[in-house]
Amino acid sequence: MNVLIVFAHPEPKSLSASLRDVAVQELEAAGHTVRISDLHAMRWKSEIDRADFPSLAPDERLIPVAASKHAFSGDTLTDDVKAEIEKLLWADTLILQFPLWWFAMPAILKGWVDRVFAYGFAYGVGEHSDKRWGDRYGEGTLVGRRAMLVVTAGGWEEHYAPRGINGPIDDLLFPINHGILYYPGYDVLPPFVTYSTDRFDDARFEAAAESLRDRMRTLETTYPIPYRRQNGGDYHIPAMQLRSELSEPGASGFALHLKDAAASS
Ligand code: FAD
Repeated sequence: MNVLIVFAHPEPKSLSASLRDVAVQELEAAGHTVRISDLHAMRWKSEIDRADFPSLAPDERLIPVAASKHAFSGDTLTDDVKAEIEKLLWADTLILQFPLWWFAMPAILKGWVDRVFAYGFAYGVGEHSDKRWGDRYGEGTLVGRRAMLVVTAGGWEEHYAPRGINGPIDDLLFPINHGILYYPGYDVLPPFVTYSTDRFDDARFEAAAESLRDRMRTLETTYPIPYRRQNGGDYHIPAMQLRSELSEPGASGFALHLKDAAASS
């Protein structure tokens, strides 16, 4: 299996980097091929701007969606973005690894997504009509591949529990898991999250490393998060509302988009 790790931490001696090395070692020992996009080491440019679209005339207004569409279809994306797209098409599994910063991914990784997930590649794919609203949420360019988050969080696990003050971790990661990874077609595996990371010692590191090794060993067999498919009949099209009979009256929230949400509520 080919595995791409997109890694976002500025410090090569960080806890995140140590955990990344553990994952790489385990994957390679199992015979997998691993490539790493170390965004800080690559000095990744994180913001979308005119420099991303060299074919745009100097006086032409920059409309990011249109420019992305034009550049992807015309093969005029910048070389750094093209290289990342090539890696994504190479990889059977994508791992995004990052420390949780302000309840989200670090800006450099968000900027990687913004620039690499181009129109026609990760979004704007397929027929958009009253009958079909594109190939996304379970379909799309990256269908048949797996993706997973590896996250370190300073907060306690309890603080991210269903009644924890930070909000449930599955809710906080939903925009990434569902909105960024499931959207272009990935089967998304449950995330690996390590908590209370600012108080790590050798014993805790070894425990986290062993859990991560286990997740790497089961990468090919772990059951993905059972998100509903957009075009699987559960949603009204084009309103993209979940059919009322598939949830309790008045139910709302991210869990609606899990196939077994009604059963578990
Ligand atoms: P490091 O800082 O590199 O290390 C953490 C600890 O682990 C250190 O004590 C270090 O000595 C030890 N360590 C490192 N490597 C090893 C090793 N190999 N073996 C044993 N021990 C080791 N947390 C939240 O929960 N929610 C937030 O919203 C949030 N927002 C943040 C925003 C910012 C801007 C920042 C800077 C931090 C935020 N945090 C938040 C905390 C953040 O998630 C943690 O600092 C981060 O996850 C720690 O991971 P790291 O790789 O940076 O660890």
